[in-house]
Amino acid sequence: MVGAGTGGTTAARFAGRAGLKVCLLDTKPREKVGEKVCGDAVGGEIFDILGIDPPRKEDLAWKVKGAKLVSPDRQTSIMMVDPSQAGYIVNRREFGQRLLDEALGAGSVEFRERTFAKELIVEGGAVKGVKVRDKTKSGTEEIRAKVTIDATGYHTPLRKCLDSPFIERDIDEERDSIICYREIVDLGTAGDFDPDYIVITLDQKLAPGGYLWHFPKNKTSLNIGIGTYLKFTREIKKLYFQNAFQPYVNAKKYTVTARGGGLVTVRRPIDSAVEDGVMFVGDAAAQVNPL
Ligand SMILES: Cc1cc2nc3c(=O)[nH]c(=O)nc-3n(C[C@H](O)[C@H](O)[C@H](O)COP(=O)(O)OP(=O)(O)OC[C@H]3O[C@@H](n4cnc5c(N)ncnc54)[C@H](O)[C@@H]3O)c2cc1C
Repeated sequence: MVGAGTGGTTAARFAGRAGLKVCLLDTKPREKVGEKVCGDAVGGEIFDILGIDPPRKEDLAWKVKGAKLVSPDRQTSIMMVDPSQAGYIVNRREFGQRLLDEALGAGSVEFRERTFAKELIVEGGAVKGVKVRDKTKSGTEEIRAKVTIDATGYHTPLRKCLDSPFIERDIDEERDSIICYREIVDLGTAGDFDPDYIVITLDQKLAPGGYLWHFPKNKTSLNIGIGTYLKFTREIKKLYFQNAFQPYVNAKKYTVTARGGGLVTVRRPIDSAVEDGVMFVGDAAAQVNPL
């Protein structure tokens, strides 16, 4: 299992629970697993579907009752208040650490930190494992497995190297991805926003190809972000400030506690997530489409 993000730790949990012997590896040191620039919002029903405990302890930042979707003219909004739309705002690192701990407790799952997967081992047209580099040592080694799962996220160095008629190696990034930038902003006092709802604004002028988001992190803090076509990458911080931050933040004093960006696919999943000896999950399979 290559990659210990949300996809890899969840796949490892179920493989371990099914009695399989799993080697889960990640290029990060163990304590950094779960660190990811994110909107931090997770719908509640996914935990019921997967039979995983929802965030309850240090992984829980805030609970929301639903979502407010704002139309392009900003005159109309739809409140999504069905109980299935209720959700959680997670503390991203703690959430990832909890998923990792639970995967390691699910049967025979071992974790190798600081281990970078360089390429798939392909023999006779079938994937037989991965070539890895332990970052604490020199040289490369092979990890062989009956099935290799690529859960390395959006940039997936593994899928991009697989020569198969069934697996889409490359996606059209200009068309099928958005660039996102977000800040977590503590306004100091409550009252400037409704802490019970995440707000998503779809507006092709303010956020071309994507959307703006304002997600409460707690009573006084917001996770504010913007996603746009990749061609706006160089302007993303300017667009964020003009369109997502300035019109919404009235507080004179505020503190930005985190900032950063990343790429997200906005397309269908890859045609096949399976080839001989290999599977693809999460962002590596474009299984996530926030639009
Ligand atoms: C700005 C932003 C906001 C977002 N907001 C939300 C949101 O509010 N809600 C939501 O549900 N989703 C959100 N997403 C999407 C969500 O973060 C991803 O869909 C999700 O993290 C994908 O999980 P994953 O396990 O597939 O990949 P990742 O979380 O990216 O995990 C991949 C793992 O693989 C490891 N890895 C990568 N390459 C290698 C390698 N070669 N060798 C070994 N290890 C490797 C990485 O270190 C990482 O731990 C957001 C994304 C961004 C960028």
